[in-house]
Amino acid sequence: MTVRTIGIIGGGQLGRMLAIAAARLNFRTIILEPQADCPAAQVANGQIVAAYDDPAALAELAGRADVVTYEFENVPVSAAEALQRSVPVHPPAKALDVAQDRLTEKRFLNGCGIETARFHAVDSQADLEKALVDFGGKGVLKTRRMGYDGKGQRVFRSPGESPAGAYDALGGVPLILESFVPFEREVSIIAARSADGTVLCYDPAENVHRNGILHTSTLPARISDATAKTARESAGKLLAALGYVGVIGMEFFVMADGKLIANEIAPRVHNSGHWTEAACVVSQFEQHIRAVAGLVLGSSYRHSDCVMTNLIGDDILQVPAWLAKKDVLVHLYGKTESRPGRKMGHVTELKGPKTSSQG
Ligand code: AMP
Repeated sequence: MTVRTIGIIGGGQLGRMLAIAAARLNFRTIILEPQADCPAAQVANGQIVAAYDDPAALAELAGRADVVTYEFENVPVSAAEALQRSVPVHPPAKALDVAQDRLTEKRFLNGCGIETARFHAVDSQADLEKALVDFGGKGVLKTRRMGYDGKGQRVFRSPGESPAGAYDALGGVPLILESFVPFEREVSIIAARSADGTVLCYDPAENVHRNGILHTSTLPARISDATAKTARESAGKLLAALGYVGVIGMEFFVMADGKLIANEIAPRVHNSGHWTEAACVVSQFEQHIRAVAGLVLGSSYRHSDCVMTNLIGDDILQVPAWLAKKDVLVHLYGKTESRPGRKMGHVTELKGPKTSSQG
């Protein structure tokens, strides 16, 4: 079927950038999002103002769109499954199911032959204490669901730290304790898979987080070609195992010997791939739109070295200075109110022609 209208669940900046990329290829977009005048709807052709799991709204979206995608991983799996019965949904609901629960995610990655931190499910204070003993008193305790940007986490850095009250402090919900990974740096890879099974990867980015939120993504990453190759291969295995269509983001820890430990996957376009709009022929946003609309993938070739910096909260005040710089692409999200920790926009500074392909 020819796709004319793409439905997007979620109205944040990722949906906004998807809608812009869709418009450039003559597609219309309709956003399902409870907040009126959201960043995505400001640049889309329509919005259904309703909850993500509202049955009438989902039926309306299925009726108005030829294909549906989403811009965040906490779309209720039941909503995606219900939609799938009447309209194609890409990426598949299975990808949401895997990405929404850190325990399921790690088991799935391990099942694909992709290494993660060691982990234990933690459903009580006693589970936590037992798991900490197994990891020598160190580890990262995380909520299994709904965690993002470092929220819902507690780090045990040294064996002397008391875990007393830690289970209840995270809300008494299902948790996971991960072994503490003494990584050298963090990288991510953005990969795309089309309906015919073709996989294309972008060059891995090196990421720096501040207060649990992505601060910068730098290209090229300081990793060997062999490490970059492993990242690409891991993404390929994961995409095939999920029968995936669309763009995915995969985050890794890099060990001193170059070994990769997968941390998280995001079944959507990813903040650490925003640089692609300035330094690649086809951005991650266009790539995702191409994939979900059944088009051929575009080139993921990176022509420039670059640094992407997120504008968080009051960083928005620096926009005039960024605009005055040469070789900087400024992208703002249409959010009227700035709050600490809120992503307001990003900038990508081109640093000259590409110096290394990293695999
Ligand atoms: P996450 O929410 O899983 O992406 O974690 C947020 C950040 O916490 C990561 O980007 C790492 O910097 C750090 N972190 C998460 N898990 C671990 C771990 N198992 N070992 C060491 N650092 C971690």
